[in-house]
Parts: sequence; structure tokens; C-alpha cells
Amino acid sequence: MGIEEHYNSILNTMPHLVLIVRPVTHPVTGKADYLIEYVNQAWELISGSLASTVLGKFFSETVYNNTEIPWVHIVEYTVRNRKPQKHIHYSTLVNKWLDITVNVIDEHLLCIHVFDVTDIKEGETRLMEQNHRLSVLSTELASSKANLKKKLDKIELLNNRLEQIAYYDKLTGLPNRTRFSELIDIEFQNCRRSSTPFALAILDVDNLKVLNDTLGHEHGDDLLKQMSQRLCSFSGRSIQSSRFGGDEFLLLITGYDSTESLVQTVNEIRESLSEPYMILNAEIKSSVSIGVAMYPEDANTVADLLKNADIAMTDAKKSGKNSLSLFHSLMQQTLVVRASLEQKMYIAVQEESFRLFYQPQFDVLTRKLRGFEALIRWFDTEHGYIKPDRFIPIAEENRLIIPLGDWILRKACTTLARWQREFGFDGIISVNVSPVQLQSSGFIDDLNMILAETGIEPQTLEIEITEGVLIHNFDESVSLLNEIKKIGVGISLDDFGTGYSSLSYLQYLPLSTLKIDKSFIANISQKTSIEYDITDAIVSLVTKQGIDTIAEGVETPEQYEIMKQMQCKTIQGYLTGKPMPEEDCDILISGGFYELD
Ligand code: C2E
Ligand code: CA
Ligand code: CA
Repeated sequence: MGIEEHYNSILNTMPHLVLIVRPVTHPVTGKADYLIEYVNQAWELISGSLASTVLGKFFSETVYNNTEIPWVHIVEYTVRNRKPQKHIHYSTLVNKWLDITVNVIDEHLLCIHVFDVTDIKEGETRLMEQNHRLSVLSTELASSKANLKKKLDKIELLNNRLEQIAYYDKLTGLPNRTRFSELIDIEFQNCRRSSTPFALAILDVDNLKVLNDTLGHEHGDDLLKQMSQRLCSFSGRSIQSSRFGGDEFLLLITGYDSTESLVQTVNEIRESLSEPYMILNAEIKSSVSIGVAMYPEDANTVADLLKNADIAMTDAKKSGKNSLSLFHSLMQQTLVVRASLEQKMYIAVQEESFRLFYQPQFDVLTRKLRGFEALIRWFDTEHGYIKPDRFIPIAEENRLIIPLGDWILRKACTTLARWQREFGFDGIISVNVSPVQLQSSGFIDDLNMILAETGIEPQTLEIEITEGVLIHNFDESVSLLNEIKKIGVGISLDDFGTGYSSLSYLQYLPLSTLKIDKSFIANISQKTSIEYDITDAIVSLVTKQGIDTIAEGVETPEQYEIMKQMQCKTIQGYLTGKPMPEEDCDILISGGFYELD
């Protein structure tokens, strides 16, 4: 094989096109042209025709025809600049991207290399498209991340504010009853484990009522604030204080050496609180009566310690104000009253001497009657009217609430069935169900039985539960509520904002309604109040989740108007109707007073 053939065979094995051309003047057109002196076999791949057909031809008669590629321009540009030049063009003739490089061999000879770069180009295009899509996605992701963060921040802010309201006393900033009860439980367990002494002291302000009546409530509040500040000056690891109710503070004291040292500490606190206060630029005298109960001497549980400290405090009050009483068992005689109440309750349950009252609920927008909440009433011949707040906790403790709650549910459903039958009533009945009753084993069966007995549609019944249900076993409670929802009965969360309120768990509960506690509504008229902000946020947040809202304890037209502006669905309160006996409801329903004036 000659050297020329040898080169030729090498060039033919190349995957790209190699063209060698000589600049000439075309004999016919007289224009500058190029004579094709060599072409390798790759020509076929790129042009579709045989290499032999173009050998010895002029450029203008072959590749020139492929006008979309400016061959002449490319070649002339290179000749002019005398350096290799790279050009990439798309040829629709062969549907390929071509990379054209022209090398000047000498004045009379040019070598043109043409590479098929379609794969690379398409890869590049795909990469660019993907890059573009990626950048769009990452922009979207960044903005949805920012949105999510905003939402989470808002929820966290609300939760913090809710926690502040739920756990701390607004006036004094001290932990409230709910928060302190949790704290006491934890400390009590610790002390029990480490056999450290533990005492509870209840402090009751002696003359708050007189002060409120004479100087006005805001100055009574001022006194409580100043007292809490003095209490805080004693607070530390071993003394913690809280506001437990209207005029009551509670102290948790641990780690004292002896009863004497405990008494000495508590007396120091008592004396400090009996120093004069500056109110309205005048010195005002006040004092506290203190009852103390100790573990393990006086009781073995927190509940009993609290009860006994309260008994001791009552004793301190009786023995003259500004004094301190330690609990002792003789004081327990007071418990006889409670025992007698408990005894009476057993009889009352058996004899069904309880009654149900019903409080109307109205749709805020249409002003139509939505239904009634059933509320229990107990009139006793000896004690007179006993408030449910007083006897329901006892009934929960001795589990009498289970038969009592069963009676309430049956009675409320029977009444609703009668209203439907007699007056064609199309509203709902809402029944309070205690956590003890709800978590008793037969609740679902009883519920089904009562629905079957009375024949009311499940959708016309709503049960009101409190957050207390969720404390012990959240998952179990949620599945119980889901079972109730499956039956078709509505579930309403009562007293929202007072307990362990958190917005984060709401999404796990199958709620139909959320009742905003009356303590929020009471302060809502002040647009700058925290209650206003929170109620507004809760109504809009919860409504978005498809849950209806009820404002409880609406007493004034102004509160009604504000709730309407916030787009709260339903209101219930003294403004639109107090709890009333069944007969009065009959008149309301049968008289067609379905709508507010
Ligand atoms: P609750 O479920 O939050 O009931 C609402 C309470 O607010 C009722 O007190 C009602 O009379 C009162 N109320 C209604 N509107 C207003 C208002 O405009 N202003 C004010 N200040 N209060 C208003 P009630 O009947 O004394 O009941 C107290 C609590 O006792 C109830 O609170 C509920 O927790 C419990 N309770 C009542 N009836 C039953 C019952 O049948 N079963 C159970 N388990 N608990 C019940
Ligand atoms: Ca209720
Ligand atoms: Ca309530």
C-alpha cells in the first residue's frame, strides 16, 4: 500500500467528514469557488450521497446548494483571517448539528472538518431545559418554604399567646391554676421519690371584697398585683407561687427542715403581705389568711393536700384574719358537708331529681335558632340550688357521672325527639359529656342505644367535650372521637382557650364545632386586648379547617356585633337567651320564635 493510500484509508476510518478543497475561479461563472480534491467516506453520513459523486466537483455545485449553512462565508472568513475557525450550524438537509472547522493548509489548499455534534447539542439543550426547570422549581420551593415558615410562625405565635393565656394569670403574671396543678404534680412526684418534705399553702386575701366595693375593682386588682410582687420576692427553688383564683394565691414549699421552720417561713410571708399598700396615694391595710397542709403528715395525694390546705385556710379565717393554720384531722369535720352532698347525689341520681335546662344558640348571620345546649340543674331541699361547677367534679371523682351522664344524654335526646314530633323542630341538641363518662367502656354502646330508642338522627345530636379528654391518652381519645364521628354525631370542643389549648392538635380531632370560652368574649370589646386578637385569629383559622365556631357567654350587643364582624358562626349567651326549663323552650319553638328580633 502506497503512502497516499495509507493516509486515505486512515482518513476513511474517521467518523467525521474531511474535505480538502482548492480555491479556484469557476470557469463558467467566473466567481471565486473551491474545487473538491478529496473527501473521505464520512461524506455519505453527512450528505446522504456517495463520496465519489463529489470528487473533482466545484463547491458551488455541491455543498453550496445547502444554503442554510453559509459555507462560503465560513471558508472565506477563515482564509481572510488565516486561522482555523469553528462554526456550529444545524442542517435540515440531514437533520443534524454540524461542527465545521476550516484549516488553511497553504495558499492553495484548505482542509474542512465537519463533525456531527447532534448528540452533544441535544444533550446541551436538554441540560439547559432541565436547568431552567430546576431554577423555576427552586424559586417555587423557596417561596412556598417562605410561606410555610410564615404560617408556622403565625401558629407558633398564636400558640405562645394561647399558652400565656391558658397558663398564666393575666393580672399578676403568676402561673394560674392549670399551670400550677401541673407543676405541683411534677414537684410532688420528685419529693416523694427523694423523701423531701412538701407543703401547700393557700393564701386568701381577707378584705378584697370590701376593697373592690369601696375603691372599685381596678384598685382591688392593684392590690392583688402588689401582693403578687411581694410573693415573688420570696420565690425561688423551694417556694413557688401562683394565683389560684379570684382572691386566692397558692404556695408550693419544699425542702424545709422542720414544721417550725416551715411555719416561720410562711409567717414571714404573711407579715410581709400585711404591710400597708400604696393605693390611690394612700396607705391601705390588707392581709391574708393562710392554710397549710403537709406531705406526708396530712395527706398522700395532691388533691387531698389541696383539700386539707383549704380546710385549714377556712379555719384561719374563722380564728381571726391575718393568721395561719396548719391542717389537723379535727378540721376534717368540714368534709362531712361534702360527704353529705355526695350521699345526696347518689339518691338524686336514683330518684332522677335532677333537671335539664336548655340554652338557645343562634346563627349569627341568619339570626335563626341553631339549637340548644343542655345544662344540668340540681335543686336540693336542704342546700338549695347547687351549681354544676360544684357537684360535677365530685360526680366525676366518685364516677357517679357515668349513670348521671347517661341520664342527661337520654333525657336531652328524648326532649329533642318530642320537639321534632310536636313542633317539627329542625335544630340540634348539644350535650356536655364529661371525660370520665366518655372514657367509660360502655359509652359508644349507650350512645347507639339512646339514638335507637329516641329515633333522632345522629346529625341532630352534638356532644361537647373539653380538652381534659385528651390529656391522658391522646391517641386512644382521638380514635374514640373518630368512632363517634362515624356514627354521625357532631363533636364540639368546649371552653377552648382555657385548658391545654393548642392549635397544633386541632387538626387531629374530628371536630364539627369549636366553642370559644366566655372569658375571651368577656374581654373582646377592647380591640386592643389579647383576647380580641386571639379570638379573631382562631375564628378565621378554624373556619378555614371547616370547623364551625360558637362564641359562648355573649352578654352585650357590642360583643354580638364583634363576633359577627369576625364571622363567627354561632352565638350563645345571656344576650340571646339564658338556660331555661323545657316548658319555656316549648313556647319558644312552638311560638315560631326561631329568629332573633
Ligand atoms: P359550660 O359547658 O361551659 O356551660 C356554659 C355555662 O355558661 C353554663 O353554666 C351557662 O349557664 C353559662 N352561661 C351561658 N351564657 C352565659 C353568659 O352569657 N354569661 C355567663 N356569665 N355565663 C353564661 P352552668 O350551667 O352553671 O354550667 C357550668 C358548667 O358545668 C358547664 O360549663 C359544664 O362544664 C358543666 N355542666 C353543666 N351541665 C352539664 C351536664 O349536663 N353534663 C356535664 N358533664 N357537665 C355539665
Ligand atoms: Ca358546654
Ligand atoms: Ca363552655
